[in-house]
Amino acid sequence: MTQHADVVVVGGGQAGLAAGYHLRRQSLDFVILDAEAAPGGSWQHMWDSLHLFSPAEHSSLPGRLMPAQPGGTYPGAGHVVDYLADYEKRYDLPVAHGTRVHAVRRDADRLLVEADSGSWRARAVVSATGTWSRPFLPAVPGLSVFTGRQLHTVNYRCPADFAGQRVIVVGGGNSGAQIAADLALDGRVEVTWVTQREPRFLADDIDGRALFDVATARRRALDAGHTDTGGVASLGDIVAVPPVRAARGAGLLTAKPMFAQLTAAGVRWADGSRSDADAVIWCTGFRPALSHLAPLNLRGPRGHITTDGTRALGEPRLHLLGYGDWTGPASATLIGVGRTARDAARAIAQLP
Ligand code: FAD
Repeated sequence: MTQHADVVVVGGGQAGLAAGYHLRRQSLDFVILDAEAAPGGSWQHMWDSLHLFSPAEHSSLPGRLMPAQPGGTYPGAGHVVDYLADYEKRYDLPVAHGTRVHAVRRDADRLLVEADSGSWRARAVVSATGTWSRPFLPAVPGLSVFTGRQLHTVNYRCPADFAGQRVIVVGGGNSGAQIAADLALDGRVEVTWVTQREPRFLADDIDGRALFDVATARRRALDAGHTDTGGVASLGDIVAVPPVRAARGAGLLTAKPMFAQLTAAGVRWADGSRSDADAVIWCTGFRPALSHLAPLNLRGPRGHITTDGTRALGEPRLHLLGYGDWTGPASATLIGVGRTARDAARAIAQLP
């Protein structure tokens, strides 16, 4: 059966919920289709010790401040899940959980959204599917030769799973630094942290709030035709959250350069030296989860869809929300997604 809605939002994580909040304010009729069985988007799957890089009051979606987590300045992932579940309920957002969208295609003057539980015809679609379901692994020689365990950030839970083992953590971003710190501070794991270039830590006082301000200033400068100063990326790659600081301070977080290849027993560096390992954890990032948009034929050579703000250039009825700076400054953060969601909802309200 085909149902009708002004707007279908694909994805019910923080970006989808922020979209719902602003679509409601525009008096639009919408539904949010989310593959997860329960609220919280990808926060439900983060590792046990993960904490936000900003205090709760700087990690809020529009309309409702995230409450502080008792006993800690930087809330854990479970606290974010509770907040998002409460947000969904409080604003009575129509989220159909357990509903995966397979395809969005053009259907005369509407977009047709095909999900496993039925189809929707909509005037507009907001895609807010995040990146968590598309972990990225670099093409390193020997991937299939290594006999130990290989996993990605998305599969990492806690140090206990690696007690007594030699683990190589690959990646110079936040996930790599935090997982390396988590393992190193535990004391039961022999950790080697490997990064492609020298790790670049942000100053200790820079948290998500400051990053949001920097990303916004960069966007404004670019829009005004000024030179690109590099924004957040110019400051560094790794937010110095307390565990990262602790591990670094204890001398446990020194990185080795990237190895040349994996071997059956571990890895080999360009100078011929080797390290044996029981596991390699690839903290090598994500790609946007956009396969449901394939029938629209919008993807450019680098796999991205070209946008003007959140609106897809090749399909004005489609908005992309939350994937990264290319869909709005800091739009892949709790504090940043609200503003781009507001702009997307306003633009959708103007559609004929
Ligand atoms: P998600 O949370 O991934 O939600 C997308 C939803 O869409 C999911 O429920 C998914 O199941 C669903 N979905 C996907 N495909 C489909 C489909 N085809 N059909 C239907 N549903 C679909 N941000 C901060 O502000 N502060 C932090 O401290 C912070 N720390 C981070 C730490 C890590 C390790 C990572 C990876 C990110 C962090 N972020 C942080 C960034 C960001 O806030 C999160 O990545 C956030 O989860 C992104 O929200 P989202 O709604 O865009 O995507």
